[in-house]
Amino acid sequence: MLYLITAALGVGLAIALKKLRDYRQAVSNLHQAILEKQPLLREGETIGRAASAWDRLRSATNELITEVAHLQRVRSGQLAQLETTLGSLQEAVLIVDSGNRLLLANKALQAIFPRAKDILNQRLELVLHSVAFLDYVEAVRAGCAAPQHELEFVEGNRSIWLEITGALVTPLNSERGSWALFVLHDITRQKELEGIRKDFVANVSHELRTPLSIIKGYIETLVDGHRNMPIEDRDRFLQTIQRHTDRLNSLLDDLLTLSRLESINPGLHCESTQFADLVTSLIEDIRGRSTVGGHFISFACDPAIGSVLIDPLKVSQVCANLLDNALKYSPPGSRIDLTARLHEGEVEVCVRDNGPGIPEADLPHIFERFYRVDKGRSREKGGTGLGLSIVKHTVQLHGGRVWVESKLGKGTAFYFTLPQRAT
Ligand code: ADP
Repeated sequence: MLYLITAALGVGLAIALKKLRDYRQAVSNLHQAILEKQPLLREGETIGRAASAWDRLRSATNELITEVAHLQRVRSGQLAQLETTLGSLQEAVLIVDSGNRLLLANKALQAIFPRAKDILNQRLELVLHSVAFLDYVEAVRAGCAAPQHELEFVEGNRSIWLEITGALVTPLNSERGSWALFVLHDITRQKELEGIRKDFVANVSHELRTPLSIIKGYIETLVDGHRNMPIEDRDRFLQTIQRHTDRLNSLLDDLLTLSRLESINPGLHCESTQFADLVTSLIEDIRGRSTVGGHFISFACDPAIGSVLIDPLKVSQVCANLLDNALKYSPPGSRIDLTARLHEGEVEVCVRDNGPGIPEADLPHIFERFYRVDKGRSREKGGTGLGLSIVKHTVQLHGGRVWVESKLGKGTAFYFTLPQRAT
């Protein structure tokens, strides 16, 4: 009897242990399937009486795993598609998650901020150092941001201006909180041009106002008192008016020339021109002018230059401006040498004087509009501050280069080149 009871207990224990092993195996399969995100669970894995419940759990888990795998494929496909699309954009695009970590940034961002490498998952403030931008991100999240916002970023010693548009986007996964997308358009060049335009308008107004107010003042004095005025004073006043009218005229001429040179159609009329003849006749004209104060002008031209394809009027004006400056700024009786040689396939022209020279700090700015080393001296000599800008634009239109070499007290040499397109 005892034997029978013991045997029955043994069989019962063995069955219970097998069931326990089956349960453990089933749970372990379930765990593995979820970990690998693969519907690994097989049909027919029965677990005693719980077979039907287990079947339901198995098929529900399989469905869930298949659904998750599908969603992940869709999400990575969407991100890859988004990255490909954004990669070809000129504008920088970036997406940050609800914690301001970078989820996506296209190549254009690196073009704007070259130091922004390996930035994914980094915090936004570590990539773009701008408190104003972070404020804008917060405003976008709060739904109170302006549709477009202009911001200045300081990168080393330069400023980058960006026009930024931000929007909230729904996360592609089930993450809580919303992502924010920003499109960054580089407007640095526009800002620089705007600054140049503002400076230019301010400069022109200033340049026009000075002679105009002088002319106005003298005319008012003449109107009021010309009847009782000594004749010498009247002549002197009229001469001053004439001088300032001439100055206004030169300024307007130079402004028109410059604006034509900078326009889309600068009107370059190139023709085969004997370079030596062009410069020789210009020097003769200058020598004939009464204003030349006993300077000695020499001209040496390499005969191999022959004829070149240039706009003769415009190149003549380049030489005239450089010679005028040499005459204006060097002492009467001093020597001015104009040379032209062939160098590395180009015609290289040099106008050298023995004047006061130009301080080193001014040299990088000397070709800028209205830049003068000594404003008073330039105006007194009838300068407009535009002569060298006209030189630079004309030479560049011909495909050449222009530069200056000068030392204080040791004279100045202006160089320009013209491609030797002999005909
Ligand atoms: P400006 O009409 O004042 O001469 P430019 O554009 O021709 O204007 O020249 C700009 C400035 O460069 C001048 O005001 C002058 O200070 C300086 N400059 C030009 N040429 C010479 C030169 N040969 N020697 C010394 N300074 C010069």
